Amino acid sequence: MTSLAERLTALDARLADAARAVGRDPGEITRIVVTKFHPARLVTDLAALGVRDVGENRQQELTAKRAELEGSALDGLRWHFIGQLQTKKARAVRVASDCVHSVDRDRVADALHAADPEGAPLDVFLQVNLTADPGRGGVSPSEVEALAAHTADRCPSLRVRGVMGVAPLDEAPGAAFARLAAAGETVRRVVPDASWMSAGMSGDFAEAIAAGATHLRIGTAITGPRPDRG
Ligand SMILES: *Cc1c(COP(=O)(O)O)cnc(C)c1O
Repeated sequence: MTSLAERLTALDARLADAARAVGRDPGEITRIVVTKFHPARLVTDLAALGVRDVGENRQQELTAKRAELEGSALDGLRWHFIGQLQTKKARAVRVASDCVHSVDRDRVADALHAADPEGAPLDVFLQVNLTADPGRGGVSPSEVEALAAHTADRCPSLRVRGVMGVAPLDEAPGAAFARLAAAGETVRRVVPDASWMSAGMSGDFAEAIAAGATHLRIGTAITGPRPDRG
């Protein structure tokens, strides 16, 4: 059994190797540790190891963990919401997140904006569906430009930072991430400084780095297996 600290160190070494292998500076890549399904205690342990960015994919779990950890030494921690977002949960997600990776339709952008229209700008990624299944999360690549325009024009409390994607299981991840990078270029026709790209998980982060990812979402490679949700 390895410890959390050992897994974190090992992952960061692999991240740095993958970046240098393609001529990138590891320091320009944000490694988000995905803590979903784990107890709040894991977040405390990660913070003690210097982790600054954590990711959750369910609003109730995110809200509960933040409440449980309130008052502890968690200042400076950034909470990333990476899960499918329902409009009725948008208010709670906005309150509990520093960054939302899963804006995938106009109504979700509208709901996040309406939750705090005069508030401090919320960083958002536009999630792009990289699969052939329209039922999966994410806007289709052909519609991402319209979503970027809507969000930029109609939701001034949101700051469009870039694109997010999950590589399909039935395809080489590099090919999928190349489509995501192209979607990012499309978004920059509307929002020129939307240079971020959220891509890469435990199994495919090297390919994501090669394709230009700026934000990695790493779960099991750092945390170990997730507890069973039953
Ligand atoms: C769970 C999750 C991850 C992390 O996956 P691992 O394979 O455990 O690294 C990344 N992104 C999203 C959207 C997730 O839901």
